[in-house]
Amino acid sequence: MITRFAPSPTGPLHLGHAYSAMLAHDMAMDANGTFLLRIEDIDQSRARPEWEAQIYDDLRWLGLWWPEPVMRQSERQAAYETALDRLWNDVLLYPCHCSRRDIETAASAPQEGATMGPDGIVYPGTCAGSVDPYDPGPRPNDVPLRLDMTKATRLVCKHRVVPDAPWTHVLGFEEMLHGKRRMITVTQEEMLRSIGDVVLSRRDMGTSYHLSVVVDDAAQGITDVVRGSDLFDATPIHVTLQKLLGLPTPRYHHHRLIRDDNGKRLAKRDDARALSKFRAEGATPNDIRRLVGLTEV
Ligand code: GLU
Repeated sequence: MITRFAPSPTGPLHLGHAYSAMLAHDMAMDANGTFLLRIEDIDQSRARPEWEAQIYDDLRWLGLWWPEPVMRQSERQAAYETALDRLWNDVLLYPCHCSRRDIETAASAPQEGATMGPDGIVYPGTCAGSVDPYDPGPRPNDVPLRLDMTKATRLVCKHRVVPDAPWTHVLGFEEMLHGKRRMITVTQEEMLRSIGDVVLSRRDMGTSYHLSVVVDDAAQGITDVVRGSDLFDATPIHVTLQKLLGLPTPRYHHHRLIRDDNGKRLAKRDDARALSKFRAEGATPNDIRRLVGLTEV
């Protein structure tokens, strides 16, 4: 078993991160496996070296261990380019020239009605169909590229026999919930309606969260992805990309989110819950384990 913790160095780690990292670490240790760390720093406008240094420091303090060198996404551009080239040559991507404003206007036209997906408003498809399927030409790199989800789901969704809906096609993946295996199925129709044509390459980064996470989980041989349930809705995108790129699909474990006293999910800016603050106040790693509901070591 290989698990990982994949933080972005854009702020302090808080109790929620500690929970996620310790769960992934404990799971790998219990199985005599390996726990890996990956720094998700594709957003260079927000990543800071001091946050990265703090991540190493906090995780070591918690008693976690991982092999070096640590994978850093800012050093992985070539791998993302290869994946994008493959999708581009398979005519699964198209350039998008819409501004945020254009998308809002088109998505809220009376006949459409905006739907919110994992990345915000579901793209209304304005720029779709602009690539010549017989001659896609070179992949542009100065404009965002979107995944053509209609084509993608045609390739990855499998026919499922349903008495009242004979044309149902679904994408399935395995999830572990509290140690119990369950199959999640998402219909092709849901994928189009509630996810749509997501951006896989952003102009400013030449990649995206979805693309990088999929390419890197495969490169690191991750067998079990342990992460918060806030990322559950992104998982069908990741499974779709794995299938399109011929990569294995790991098992997914989406864990509960650690909330503050008002029931609000912790965010990076919640300095009050920063691990460094607990440390400064004299808490021990076992205090942190107790606070997030994990057994002490
Ligand atoms: N880098 C993401 C975050 O900090 C986590 C990615 C993942 O676990 O898939 O929220």
